[in-house]
Amino acid sequence: MSKKVIGKKPYIIAGPCSIETYDQAFLIAESVKNHIDLFRAGIWKPRTSPNSFEGVGQKGLGWLRAIKKHVGLRVATEVVTAQHVDLCLKNEIDCLWIGARTTVNPYYVQEIAEALKGVNIQILIKNPIHPELNLWIGAIERIRKSGISDIAAVHRGFYSYSKNEYRNNPKWEIPIKLKKEIKDISIICDPSHISGRADLIDEISQTAMDLDFNGLMIETHNKPETALSDGNQQLTPKKLKQLINNLTLRNQNISDINYKKKLVSFRKKIDLYDKKIIELLYERKRIVQEIAKFKNTNKLTALQIDRWIEILKTRKERANNIGLDNNMIVEIFELIHKYSIFTQTNIMREE
Ligand code: PEP
Ligand code: MN
Repeated sequence: MSKKVIGKKPYIIAGPCSIETYDQAFLIAESVKNHIDLFRAGIWKPRTSPNSFEGVGQKGLGWLRAIKKHVGLRVATEVVTAQHVDLCLKNEIDCLWIGARTTVNPYYVQEIAEALKGVNIQILIKNPIHPELNLWIGAIERIRKSGISDIAAVHRGFYSYSKNEYRNNPKWEIPIKLKKEIKDISIICDPSHISGRADLIDEISQTAMDLDFNGLMIETHNKPETALSDGNQQLTPKKLKQLINNLTLRNQNISDINYKKKLVSFRKKIDLYDKKIIELLYERKRIVQEIAKFKNTNKLTALQIDRWIEILKTRKERANNIGLDNNMIVEIFELIHKYSIFTQTNIMREE
């Protein structure tokens, strides 16, 4: 099956979190129409609390259809059920998105996929709430299997148990893994849901561009402070225009031969360092194997927690002294230590 990939870069999707009234949505659409490719507005809003605004429902479809006709923008909304899909198709909605709370459930996604059989429409698939790449891939596969080829993934960040400055942790490594698994997938970043804060949207959008994402989905409202949902993370149309104009766009490849040569020489150095890292890890493993035998003979446990605490502390200090990222060092040594313990317990079991 040939897959359609979003061609224009950056592909800009903007519009309110929720459509509130026809006039509100019309006003926003009019003020962003020259800067965007697709107008978004939620009608059915799966919310955590039943006391939150859950969208205007079906009547919003007629408003979106009128906006499409009078403003001339392509329009998109979120679908949660197969019935929503049917209603959207009847109302000539151009694009449907599957939200984070729906991607988590393969059964819901399958129902939507069934309703899409034989239909030619653009579908956006948001990442599931938790960082489970396979659920995201599964949802994309289900929609592809229903015959839809115009698909893009939307990266909206992930729920995190640890406190950080984002509403949803970006965990950029996950959309990068998605791109590795499905090479022809277009990825749109949704900095509004990642940040939860209007003042962080610029920098997240720029990071997405630097990571070669295909576009951005940005919640935009004429009066964010009065919005019925997600007020803190919506930009005004004016700010949206500024953001788009200020984006630095880079190329994935260089045509100039001299630049190419320079890049190749940088990469040769990186290759060399990576080779050294791997060789060092091998040498480290050899010692770990000897330690395992020693501990086994002397009936010592594989894990000695004080030693592990000391390793973390000293490696962090060393990294700090030379200006290396502390978190990176912690993550790397957690992995090294995990495999070191595996190696030891395996040897102890076999001996
Ligand atoms: C939305 O785009 O308004 C929305 C509800 O997003 P998500 O599914 O990413 O929470
Ligand atoms: Mn929202």
